[in-house]
Amino acid sequence: MYSALNRIGCLNKKQVFIRLAFFVCACYTVRMEKLIVASKNKSKIAEVAAILNGIFEIVPMSEIGVDADIEETGNTFEENALIKARYVFEKTGLAALSDDSGLAVDALGGAPGVYSARYCGRHGDDEANNSLLLKNLENVENRSARFISAVALVSKKGEWIATGSVEGNILRELCGSGGFGYDPLFYSVELSKSFGVASPEEKNSVSHRARALHALVKKLRASGKF
Ligand code: IMP
Repeated sequence: MYSALNRIGCLNKKQVFIRLAFFVCACYTVRMEKLIVASKNKSKIAEVAAILNGIFEIVPMSEIGVDADIEETGNTFEENALIKARYVFEKTGLAALSDDSGLAVDALGGAPGVYSARYCGRHGDDEANNSLLLKNLENVENRSARFISAVALVSKKGEWIATGSVEGNILRELCGSGGFGYDPLFYSVELSKSFGVASPEEKNSVSHRARALHALVKKLRASGKF
């Protein structure tokens, strides 16, 4: 290509390389597909973007005018993830990704589970959810728990779903203010620290969501459609 451009005779070596660099960047940008994230949770969207940016162009659903509170009527994380991704795909016609996730505490029989976001009775009240969790675990010795995530991608090419989890223990008091939701109460066995004090990079290195997303990317690659 260099010699072809050079043969035209009007470009020097530097100009040819600048044009080639632009050409390669343009091809790369054109190839990246938009992926609409079916969530209003900014922290969740940031975690998804940190892992999928570069593979997809990540777009929060609010940026393309979808503002619905999508009802999570499923009994499992997988069902709810599919409900949310299908809703946004049907509304926009664009590839949509959703994460449905939560905390499963062994001593509480897996609660709050799919009800994690509304454990206290109000949707998304992290402070009240954490207080209720501490109250329900008062005097409980076995504090083992795990975060679980199901991620679903729905597009005109098909539907894919993957899951991930991370083991930990519920602390007796809040530790740190990073992350969101139950992070300040979740002591990660692998990080040997609470998600509330872990940096975003540390959390992404072990988190349920990151693991589910990596597993999803593997499936998408294996399908040959992405
Ligand atoms: P969803 O938006 O219905 O999937 O609700 C997820 C809820 O589970 C959140 O509102 C949090 O309470 C909890 N949760 C899920 N993932 C995390 C996490 O990474 N850190 C802390 N809490 C989480």
